[in-house]
Amino acid sequence: MKKTLSKLTVKDSVKSSVKKVSKKSQKTAYTPADGHIRPDWDSYFMSIAETVGRRGTCDRGRSGCVIVRDKHILVTGYVGSPAGLPHCDEVGHEMHKVVHEDGHESMHCIRTIHAEQNAVAQAARLGIALEGGTVYCKMTPCYVCAKILLNCGIKRIVAAKDYHAAMQSKRIFKEAKVKLDILDNSVEKYKNM
Ligand SMILES: [Zn+2]
Ligand SMILES: [Zn+2]
Repeated sequence: MKKTLSKLTVKDSVKSSVKKVSKKSQKTAYTPADGHIRPDWDSYFMSIAETVGRRGTCDRGRSGCVIVRDKHILVTGYVGSPAGLPHCDEVGHEMHKVVHEDGHESMHCIRTIHAEQNAVAQAARLGIALEGGTVYCKMTPCYVCAKILLNCGIKRIVAAKDYHAAMQSKRIFKEAKVKLDILDNSVEKYKNM
């Protein structure tokens, strides 16, 4: 009887010491001595989108994007010409005049496929469903990209900055109940806007 009791006591004390150790390690796991600050998920994926954008081939943006679901990267995309065609960086921009509803005119480069569209094209080539995904991108997506992303079943957009012509995108994201988070409310501007 005495033996059984002492066995139980040993078992219990082992259990409680294991619990204590795991609690302690949880508290101290992310405060290393070098003062490193571990990025949160949004900062982490946005920094990857910025890196992806460095592969962009039109200097009027060099935007990149990452599409994520459940904290896993599904696809990436950056602004550039369609595969097999020359890039803006090699042959110059393909500028196109746009006349807006209020009469003002602006110039856009239309040689490239936008980062978001290239990410969707990559998903199509690889057979990856984007349903329920989150898009991390440099700016609030343009109207065309916004419509495409809605039909991919994207549920959240995280933009590093706002885009100067994003009114229509914001309206449809709101109507379709897609969450739009803009991390920095400054507006990305271009030459000849
Ligand atoms: Zn260009
Ligand atoms: Zn776009």
